[in-house]
Amino acid sequence: MVGAKILILPGDGIGSEIMAEAVALLEALRAAGDLDVELETAAIGGAAIDATGQPLPEATLALAREADAILLGAVGGPRWDKIERDLRPERGLLRLRSALGVFANLRPAVMYPQLVSASSLKPDVVSGLDVLIVRELTGGIYFGQPRGIRTRAGTNEREGFNTLVYSESEIERICRVGFDLARKRGRRLCSVDKANVLETSELWREVAERVSADYADVELSHMYVDNAAMQLVRSPKQFDVMVTTNMFGDILSDLASMLTGSIGMLPSASMDAAGKGLYEPIHGAAPDIAGKGVANPLATILSAAMLLRYTLGRGELADRIEAAVGRVLDQGLRTADIQSPGTRVVGTREMGQAVIDAL
Ligand code: NAD
Repeated sequence: MVGAKILILPGDGIGSEIMAEAVALLEALRAAGDLDVELETAAIGGAAIDATGQPLPEATLALAREADAILLGAVGGPRWDKIERDLRPERGLLRLRSALGVFANLRPAVMYPQLVSASSLKPDVVSGLDVLIVRELTGGIYFGQPRGIRTRAGTNEREGFNTLVYSESEIERICRVGFDLARKRGRRLCSVDKANVLETSELWREVAERVSADYADVELSHMYVDNAAMQLVRSPKQFDVMVTTNMFGDILSDLASMLTGSIGMLPSASMDAAGKGLYEPIHGAAPDIAGKGVANPLATILSAAMLLRYTLGRGELADRIEAAVGRVLDQGLRTADIQSPGTRVVGTREMGQAVIDAL
């Protein structure tokens, strides 16, 4: 994509520190003539509340709609925790995701060989791990209507209720994302559901089977979500790509990410049907370390790599960035969150610069 527009949303807490490193890397690629992009920066989250009273100002949303891709740091922090729920920083992010219609959330969990000892699981269970969880992000029980808390008919007791609903087209489009990605990787797709109990899952399974007819080169399997949680801990390397609903994916992707032992390392992408994407590290604004210059910028740098691969079609540049991260880890450089005996602990700035140097 020539002259692609990338919107930079640093957000709150460590957001501006980690984003500075990802931006420096994109600028370095641009200066070297390897990348033709325009970068623009806007406010979201607490920073936007302070400036405008809104966690997602109209001006930011307009820029996000115009951009080809968005790179986001993180939002939130104790300063804004007492504001009414609808005006909190996290609402800005939820609103942005739903306004952009980014229905496919891609969460890779990749074990860097240099970090195997950071996992809570045994080295032979996790070394070489590379799974990609594809989570449906804009439907299912988090969005279904009706929802609420009401008094149960004929009693004084209250009950909470939510609705789990998926249309065939919603299931089909997320399954296609899963199949397309599996086709570019290990050609195995595991669809995770609860078809023994839920009608929604019965339909999900039927649609997944139907879509699989278009992907004869990808092997489709099905697994109940409870078993999938167990298998991810028992033997995670059996999986290549997993595709699942919003809530199951929420839980399984957090579980899978921690197999790699390091929240500061993991990127994510949320994409619409046209390939436009919102890219962000999976971690939050980390107020406990904000302003100290010690946050790990690698998840944000790796999110920028995903942006290059999935929205700009620059897989070869993404490969180069990922390889550079590997080389920096080989050199023994670590931010505090991934340190281990015998490594050298560096700050955010030095880690970001080391990746640029390794490129
Ligand atoms: P968190 O991910 O911000 O932090 C959890 C722990 O991980 C902290 O100890 C933190 O220091 C550490 N950590 C996180 N990222 C790190 C990095 N890059 N390098 C080194 N260490 C890192 O989660 P939390 O503490 O539950 O939430 C803090 C705030 O962030 C809250 O306001 C929350 O709502 C918000 N949040 C935002 C997002 C997002 O923007 N997508 C996601 C999760 C939480």
